[in-house]
Order: sequence, then structure tokens, then C-alpha cells
Amino acid sequence: MKNNGTTILSDNGMVRGYILNARDLVYQAFVYHKTAPVVTAGLGRLLTAAVMMGRTLKNDDDLLTLQIEGDGPVRTLLATADRNGHVKGYPGVAVVDLPLKASGKLDVSGSIGNGFLTVLRDNGEGEPYVSRTALVSGEIAEDITHYYAISEQTPTVCALGVLIDRDYTVKSAGGFILQLLPGAEEETIAALEENIGHLHNVSAIFEGKSNEEIADILMQKIPYHVTERWEASYACNCSREKTQKVLLSLGRKELGAMIAEGKPVELCCHFCDRRYSFTVEELENLLLHGGKK
Ligand SMILES: [Zn+2]
Repeated sequence: MKNNGTTILSDNGMVRGYILNARDLVYQAFVYHKTAPVVTAGLGRLLTAAVMMGRTLKNDDDLLTLQIEGDGPVRTLLATADRNGHVKGYPGVAVVDLPLKASGKLDVSGSIGNGFLTVLRDNGEGEPYVSRTALVSGEIAEDITHYYAISEQTPTVCALGVLIDRDYTVKSAGGFILQLLPGAEEETIAALEENIGHLHNVSAIFEGKSNEEIADILMQKIPYHVTERWEASYACNCSREKTQKVLLSLGRKELGAMIAEGKPVELCCHFCDRRYSFTVEELENLLLHGGKK
């Protein structure tokens, strides 16, 4: 099964929407990070949002990063995406055990606590655009909605859901972001509000419905068309070469201290858990030749 993304636009040009079935990429994150269900849900929601928000980037090399920092046991969640559906992320703490909420749902907000959502847009030149807003609920979708209202003055509806299976894997995952473009009419807004009221259990709708069927529910009474269909995937682009650069960036003193230890050094990628090991000889070569020999 592929992760399917769909971009839609109302015929009057006033509502733009992104719909993403993210089951496979959230499952991949679970496999890499071996997360407990509440962390799988939180990280999965953040990854899903990052993919959709990344679609608004201008260039292939641009990156959008969402970081949540809170005083709850997960401490931090991070997701970074490009505009082509590639996303990766990690939790601060992968295994957190919290009782279910009274509603029977995973307590994502309890795992995050009070804190901040930071949105970074980086086009590789100069300082990235950074926006930091206080978390309003810690359930992530509301926090994204709040970010758009405060930082971009764009009325936005965001819904995200991850359904965990009995064996703690991912049964379904997905979300949508709908945005009102400047000049939206009252009747469009009213129709949208009514339609969204029909969709309570976001994770469950992605279990049985296609993006098109979900779009039909969201856009009842609002004529629309699909502008793009795209794929999304969990993708880490780490490499031995990049890991060498990280080692070099530590500086000569730090590198010298590692060599003096006389033991191989292993670095682990935060995003995909791949391990890169360097022998003492390789570290010496890095120190003397910058890894070029
Ligand atoms: Zn990696």
C-alpha cells in the first residue's frame, strides 16, 4: 500500500485542501523508533502534518520542520519534510506509558504536556523562518490550527489521527488540512464548518475510505476538483559522508580526544537508527585530511 496524498481546490478558488493517508509512513516511524502506542500516535500525527505543510514549500531543497517541546514525559517530537512528500522524525523519549483518557483514547496531550510548537521553514540560504507558538492542547492538530491563525493569519482546519492496532502496530493513520484563502464567502465557510462536523473520528475514516471519498464529505455543497495526487514516504537521507561531516564539525580538539581514547566510535542516526562506525585509523584520517584520503 502506498501513502497517498491528494491536493484539492474549490472551484471558486477559496478553499485549498490536503488529504493524506499516512499509514505506511507512520508504521515505518514505529519500526525505526520502537515507540509505545501514545508516542506512535503523537509522532505519527506530527509526521502527517509535516508532510502536508511541506507541500507549500517552493523549492525541492527547502525543508519544513515541526518541533514540539513540552514538559510531559515524551519531552520532544520532531518531524521534518520536503515538498515532495519525504518526511522523517523522532521522539525525545520513545517509550512512555500513560493510562488511556476517560474517552478511551491515547493521552497524546498528556505525553507532551505544556510547551511550544516551533515551525521552521528553511530554504538553505540565510536564517530559516522560525515561528514559535504556545501549545493550546498538545493534541497537535489544534496546535497546528492555532499556529496558522497566529503566525500566518490563515483560517485553517487541521485534523490528524493515528489508530493503533491490538499488536501495537499502526492500523490506520492520516489527516487533512483545509485552508480558506483570502476573500472566502460566508456560505463557503458555513458549509465547510458543517461538513467538518460530520468527521469526528479522523483515524477511523482513513481505515475504510479513499482520499476522494473523504474529500467528498469535506467539500459537500462546495464544488471542487483534485489538483494533484502525490506519494509520501518516510525517508532518511543520512549517509556515511554526512556523518563524517558531523564528526568534523565537532572540532579538532574533540576529534583528538576520541582518537586518544583508542576505541572505535559509533554514531547513530536519530531519524532511522542506522549506525555508522569509525575506527581509530579512520578518525585519524579525518583529523589529518578531513576524510578526503
Ligand atoms: Zn538516517
